[in-house]
Amino acid sequence: MHKSLVERDQSCIWHPFTAQTLAPPPLPVKRAKGTKIILEDGTEIIDAVSSWWVNIHGHGNEELAETLKQQALDLDHIIFAGFTHEPAVKLAEQLIPQLRGDLSRVFFSDNGSTANEIAIKMIIQYFYNKGIHTRKKVIAFEGAYHGDTFGALSMADRSPFSKPFEDYLFDVDFLPFPTEDNWEEVRTRMETLCQTEEYCAFIFEPLVQGASGMRMYKSEWLDELMGIAHNHGTLCIADEVMTGFYRTGELFATHHLKNNTPDIITMSKALTGGIMPLSLTICTNEIYNAYLTDDVLKTFFHGHSFTGNPLACAVASKSLEMLLSEERQAQIKNIVASHKAFKEKIKSTPFCKSVRQTGTILAIEYDSEKETSYFNSIKDELYKYFLSENVLLRPLGNVVYINTTYTITEEELEKVYAVIEKVFSKGISHVQNKISELT
Ligand SMILES: *Cc1c(COP(=O)(O)O)cnc(C)c1O
Repeated sequence: MHKSLVERDQSCIWHPFTAQTLAPPPLPVKRAKGTKIILEDGTEIIDAVSSWWVNIHGHGNEELAETLKQQALDLDHIIFAGFTHEPAVKLAEQLIPQLRGDLSRVFFSDNGSTANEIAIKMIIQYFYNKGIHTRKKVIAFEGAYHGDTFGALSMADRSPFSKPFEDYLFDVDFLPFPTEDNWEEVRTRMETLCQTEEYCAFIFEPLVQGASGMRMYKSEWLDELMGIAHNHGTLCIADEVMTGFYRTGELFATHHLKNNTPDIITMSKALTGGIMPLSLTICTNEIYNAYLTDDVLKTFFHGHSFTGNPLACAVASKSLEMLLSEERQAQIKNIVASHKAFKEKIKSTPFCKSVRQTGTILAIEYDSEKETSYFNSIKDELYKYFLSENVLLRPLGNVVYINTTYTITEEELEKVYAVIEKVFSKGISHVQNKISELT
């Protein structure tokens, strides 16, 4: 008997963030082109979440594919200790002038979690190397997400996902997520914590907390909190893994700030246009200088097999070039403007509890009677409904968000808006017959 791809998958694959027995079987993908995911049976699904927030130039992009092929023929991979190569140096040289402040040393890894692990390790050892042993603690935001490895998980808010590991996570002090109502309280708390001079780092997702539901906050608040941190010698890590590369309308979310720049910025996801795994941890000279010593024990002993992979670096360079092109910049502006118009429209639908936008990210809260949580079944119902309409939208709890490729066509974007508007106008129970047909 010939087994289907899904049957074969089900007997040997373990999927990420997936309740293996509860989740419906995965959909078999044949190919992807532009903003479309094409299934084995020919069904075309609009990828409105850019494949977990990574894909910005569309799938199957010829320029990126060509760059990848050429690079693979020239130099595929090489050990990055004791050797260097053009793609890594070129990428660093391209990026550094785009950054604000003194961010000027690039360290490579291959995903957002490790980029953040490296950031906190760099800071911990920065103080160690300087002989300062009193700053051991970290400040993060409630609702934060910084990845799934232990250090990154420690700096993220405690959630049901991290429950089994709780005893193994290092302590972090969490600031309440800032809102109009609690801002004064948040600022005072930050002041109180930083005054102790016990904190080495303050880590945050600038302007938008992704995984906790595309929660947005004012750049002025972040600016002020970073100012407090800096006044008391606490270093700031901007986790731009999700917000980087124009998601917030600027190349980086921290570019919205007027007074402060981070001491470390981390980036991944859209860095390669979303087609190769790569991440960067970029620090200031001040941090780097603490490692410039003949004492070998003050070396930063960290690296991965694929550190500085030439294929990923070459693609990232090309992606950045394409991103800065007039064409892409115009597309980004169009998405921002379209979202703005749609926001006004969706606002008055009966099931819209609230709607918010930062740059190209639009988030709409579905008004369910049920409690808002990741396990809320409303999330699964909405997800299934959108798929039945051939649109991939993966709600976070009851928050439906669009975080799409910049090359999405006007027609595709209209389709995404239309299916969202339908469910927010009629309610999920009134569009559900479509779902039962599907399952
Ligand atoms: C996705 C994400 C990470 C983790 O990146 P991975 O590549 O999935 O390890 C870290 N921080 C933020 C803000 C993210 O959105």
